[in-house]
Amino acid sequence: MAFDFASFGCMVFDDREMKKRLPDGIYDCLKQSIHEGESLHPEIADTVAEAMMNWAVEKGATHYTHWFQPMTSITAGKHDSFIAPQKDGSVLLHFSGKELIKGEPDASSFPSGGLRNTFEARGYTTWDCTSPAFVRDGTLYIPTAFCSYTGEALDMKTPLLRSMSAISEQALRLIRLFGNTTSRRVNATVGAEQEYFLLDRRMYEKRLDLKICGRTLFGARPPKGQEMDDHYFGRIRLRVAEFMQQLDEELWKLGVTAKTKHNEAAPAQHELAPIFDTVNVSTDHNQLTMEIMRIVAKKNGLACLLHEKPFANVNGSGKHNNWSLSTDDGRNLLDPGKLDPRQVTYENLQFFVVLCAIISAVDKHADLLRMSAAVAGNDHRLGMSEAPPTIISIFLGEQLTSMLERAAQGGGIDSGSCGALFDDVAVLPTLQRDDSDRNRTSPFAFTGNKFEFRTVGSSASIATANYVLNTIVAESLEEFCGRLENPKNSLDDEVRAIIAETMREHGRIIYNGNNYTQEWVEEAKRRGLPNLTNTVDASRAIVSEESIRVLEKYRVLSRVECESRCEIKLENYSKVITIEAKTMLEMVERQYLPAVISYAGRCADSYNALKAAGVENRSLHSLVEKLSQNISEISGAYDALEATLCQLQSPLSTLENAQFCRDRICPLMQKLRLAVDTAEINVAEESWPTPNYTDLLHRV
Ligand code: ADP
Ligand code: MG
Repeated sequence: MAFDFASFGCMVFDDREMKKRLPDGIYDCLKQSIHEGESLHPEIADTVAEAMMNWAVEKGATHYTHWFQPMTSITAGKHDSFIAPQKDGSVLLHFSGKELIKGEPDASSFPSGGLRNTFEARGYTTWDCTSPAFVRDGTLYIPTAFCSYTGEALDMKTPLLRSMSAISEQALRLIRLFGNTTSRRVNATVGAEQEYFLLDRRMYEKRLDLKICGRTLFGARPPKGQEMDDHYFGRIRLRVAEFMQQLDEELWKLGVTAKTKHNEAAPAQHELAPIFDTVNVSTDHNQLTMEIMRIVAKKNGLACLLHEKPFANVNGSGKHNNWSLSTDDGRNLLDPGKLDPRQVTYENLQFFVVLCAIISAVDKHADLLRMSAAVAGNDHRLGMSEAPPTIISIFLGEQLTSMLERAAQGGGIDSGSCGALFDDVAVLPTLQRDDSDRNRTSPFAFTGNKFEFRTVGSSASIATANYVLNTIVAESLEEFCGRLENPKNSLDDEVRAIIAETMREHGRIIYNGNNYTQEWVEEAKRRGLPNLTNTVDASRAIVSEESIRVLEKYRVLSRVECESRCEIKLENYSKVITIEAKTMLEMVERQYLPAVISYAGRCADSYNALKAAGVENRSLHSLVEKLSQNISEISGAYDALEATLCQLQSPLSTLENAQFCRDRICPLMQKLRLAVDTAEINVAEESWPTPNYTDLLHRV
C-alpha cells in the first residue's frame, strides 16, 4: 500500500503541532528561541513541556528521554516515565518544564577523555530546541546537548551548536555588506549521503568478525567482485527494495526527508540521501537514519553494515557531507548567481568572497579537517583509489578556477560600483555546472551551489566534520569582513585584493585533477600540503596550537575539550585494533586452524588410500604439502600476533598505545589474514567454517 504522505512527520513535535497546542504568545516565544538558535525561556517551559507530553502520550509514549550524542559514533539516553503517583494509589502524568530543559544523567560511563573525574560523575543534558522532539517506540525523544558538571562539552552536539552561532555571526556581517538587511541568521546547511551494505542475516550471524567488528577480518578474493561495474544505479533487488521502502516510511514518520536511494558501486552496497537541512537537524537525522537502517534490516532478515571498509578489495562506504550556507529566508551563499563577467553583481561578489573564505580556511586548517574524518575504519578506505586520498584539497572545476585566477591577476575594476571583475574574459553568461564535478576523486568538491566533503566515514557522526568547517570558515569570514567594512578604496577593489591574496597564499589547495594518482601525492608534497595517512597522526591535529587557537577563539572547544577529543580518538583507535586482533585470534584458533588441519588430514588419508591401492598421486601429495605449509604459516602468524598483543599491556601513554597498534599490531594482523586467505583457496568449500565473500556479497 502506498505511503500516506499526510503522515509525513506524524511522530514529530513540529511547527504544526506547536502552533496547534501552544497559546499564541508562548508559541511566538518558542519560535523566537528556535529561530535565533537560543535556549528556551524558563518562564514558558512548563507550558511547552505539558503540551509536548500530551501530544506524545497521544502518540503512544509512556516515557521521555534526553537524547544525546556522546563522543562515540552513536546516541544515548535513559528513559523516564511520565508517571507521578498520587496518594490514593493512582497515577497522574506529569512532565515539567525543568524536566524538559535539563536532565542529569550519570556521565561516568561515557568517554570523557579525562574531562570528568569519576567522583564528579554528574553530567547535564540541556534541550536543543532547534532540533524537534519526536516519539519513537513509546518514548518521547528530546534532542539535547551533554555537558560535564563543570560545563565542558561531553558530546558532539555542543561544539556543533557553538560553531553554528560563530558562522552565523560572521556570515551575517558579510551579507549586510552586500546589501542584505533583512535576513536574521545564516545557517550551515547539510545533506549527508549515507552509504551502507546489506547482507543476508544468516550469513552475517555466522561471522564473528562481522558481528563483533562490523567488517570481515578474513576472506579470500571472490571470483566476482565489483569488476563488472554492474551494480551502481543497477536494478534494486526485491528484498532490498522492500527494505528501502520500510526504511523510507520509518524515516518519513520521523520527519527525516529521505529522498534518493540507489545501488552503489560495490555489490551489496547502497546509498540513501536526504534533502538537506540545517546542520544540527541533519546530524540528528543522520544518527536516526543509521539506527533505523540497522533495525529495519534486522526485521527483514538482513544485516546493515555501516563500517567504512567491510570487505577487502571491494569499495568501502563513506558519508558525503554536502555543506553550504543559507540565510534563514532561504538564500544560498554558495549560489554563484548569474555570472556575467561584464556585469558583475553584488551577489557575484559576495559569492566570490565566501568562496575565498572557504579556500583559505581549508588550506589553513587542512589537518583539522582531515582529523574530523579520522576513525580506525576509515584508514582502510581513504587513499585506496575508491575514496579520496588522505590529502585534503579542493576541487572547483576548471571554469571557476580560471575565473578566480583571472580576477586575481588584476585589470581595472570600476571604482564605486560593481564593475567588471573579469575584464578580459569572453562572455560567460552563466556558470556552467562543470561536468567534471562528477570527478569523484576529490575530498572536497564544489558541486554547483555547495561543497561536498567526501572524506567522512560511513559510521561516524557528521558533527565533527561540520563544527570544524563552520569554525574555520567563520574565521576567514571574520578576517574578510574586517577588511570589507573598512575598504582601502572601493568594495570591488577590496574583493579583488581578497581574491588575489587568497589565490596567492592558498591557491595550492585547489586541485582539479585525479586525486587517486601517485602524481598527486607527489605534487601535493611539493605544494607543502599535509598528508596525514592514518588515524593516529590525524587525531593529533586537534591539539596543534593552531587548531586549539581557532577552536578556542570561537568558543567551539576549549583547550581541555580539544585534548579530551584527541585522547578519545586515540583510545578508540587502540580499542578497535585490539578487539579486531583478538577476534582474529579467536577465529583462527577455533575455526580456521582446526578446519585446515582437519582438511589436510582428510587429504593425507586420501593420498594414503590411493597409495595403498597402488596409485601414486603427485598432485594430491603437493596439495597436502601446501596445506601443511598453510598450517605452519597460520600458526606462525598467530603466535606472532598473540605475543605482540601481550606487550600492549605494559603501561604506555594513550599515544604510544595507538602508535604500537598502528606500527606493530596492524602489520601482524595483515600477515595473519594473508595466511588464512591463502589457505581458504586450498580448502574445499564445505570444509570452510565461515561464509565466504561470494556468500556474503551475492546472496541477498
Ligand atoms: P549530487 O547527486 O550531484 O551529489 P544532489 O543535488 O543529489 O547532488 O545533492 C546531494 C545532496 O546534497 C543531497 O542530500 C542534497 O539535499 C544536498 N544538498 C543540495 N543542496 C544543498 C545545500 N544548499 N546545502 C547542503 N546540502 C545540499
Ligand atoms: Mg553527491
